[in-house]
Amino acid sequence: MKKLNCIRLGHNKNTENCPIVRLGIPESVRIPMSMNMGAACEPIVNVGDFVCVGQKIGDNQAFFSVPVHSGVSGTVTAISDYQLPSGNMCKAIEIQCDGKQTLCESVKSPVISDKASFIKAVRESGMVGLGGAGFPTHVKLSTDAKIDTLIINAAECEPYLTSDDRMMLEYPDELAYGIELISHMLDIPHVIIGIEDNKTASAELLTKKTANIKNTEVKVLPSLYPQGGEKIMIYNCTGRIVDEGKLPSDVGVIVVNVSTAILLARFFKTGMPLVERVLTVDGDTVGKSGNYLVPIGTSVSYVLENAQCNISKIKKLIMGGPMMGMTVFDINQPVCKANGAVLAMEKITENRESACIRCGRCVRACPINLMPTEIEKAYIRRDISSLQKLKVNLCINCGCCTYVCPSKRKLAETNQLAKAILPRTAK
Ligand code: SF4
Ligand code: SF4
Repeated sequence: MKKLNCIRLGHNKNTENCPIVRLGIPESVRIPMSMNMGAACEPIVNVGDFVCVGQKIGDNQAFFSVPVHSGVSGTVTAISDYQLPSGNMCKAIEIQCDGKQTLCESVKSPVISDKASFIKAVRESGMVGLGGAGFPTHVKLSTDAKIDTLIINAAECEPYLTSDDRMMLEYPDELAYGIELISHMLDIPHVIIGIEDNKTASAELLTKKTANIKNTEVKVLPSLYPQGGEKIMIYNCTGRIVDEGKLPSDVGVIVVNVSTAILLARFFKTGMPLVERVLTVDGDTVGKSGNYLVPIGTSVSYVLENAQCNISKIKKLIMGGPMMGMTVFDINQPVCKANGAVLAMEKITENRESACIRCGRCVRACPINLMPTEIEKAYIRRDISSLQKLKVNLCINCGCCTYVCPSKRKLAETNQLAKAILPRTAK
């Protein structure tokens, strides 16, 4: 890898000045047992059980799995099969909410004494990367490699999304505590908060709030996409390159999303696991765009109704940002742990694909120097060997190649399909 490209996008941060608003409690929630990388949880409650806020309702002892907790109090009405937007199936627990939000007795701040007990507690919090990837946080933090730099990823580079920005502005003390806690427990001597230059208020506030935390600096980066991509963030903050097949920990770095750090701090202070999250709700069908706090498992339709959305006008519904989010067709999808936004669009540009004109823009735009044109050709031939040589498995699905293509070729989408046909050992 020689260089790491980024592209310029319109920011469309329409909701950056919208404070976080807690929506009411819906009549019911549906909480999937698979909301992150790793094995799905098994339900540990039964139909008819009464559950409280913060109660663990699903678990699996696989290393990559994290428990699932309820964000509402009420009665379990069903444990049903649920199809994730990815097409995979898992169980989902349906809870009829009683609106009383009775707190579970187990919600107590955890007692920790060393790294092992810290990691164990992080797992119990149900925490995953809240920036979209959903990587289990305890796995990320449990490396044995020598880490010299903790990067707090505050880039939020996707257009429209402002939930991380609002979290920083509204909970800077919890972020400072989260930084101190992680760096102390993992003995990390240096902290960098990587933030884009379109978030001046947050950057100034965090500079002030972290002034007294030893060896912590705020690094303001240009607002380019995908600045928040892990490898790009590491390179732009430290100059280090995470080579193919390597992890950030191999170059002495751990990257933690800013909202993850804030909610982890809250868990260690209060014992409340990950049961709710902030969503940016925006799009031209939404009357009251904003940043809304909802229990995990709340349906998107409930969120949109409360945001005064003209649901009948929606032509495209995206869970996440426009570059990396997933288009969904069921408005009753539940909000999951890693969902940072719901975008409900009426005006969409229908792009007709035409033949490649060999301009090379997609190659120049790719942040990890792949060759999307060649990957597309190899995929059409179903040429597994060429796809492996072209390293399609390294594609981070950022969408830059598709965005810059004048022929409107669906390159990023093709890469996903190409990855899916690789033998399992090659992924
Ligand atoms: S989607 Fe994949 S191939 Fe396209 S620019 Fe991003 S990383 Fe490169
Ligand atoms: S950007 Fe589009 S037209 Fe240009 S080389 Fe890539 S695929 Fe072809």
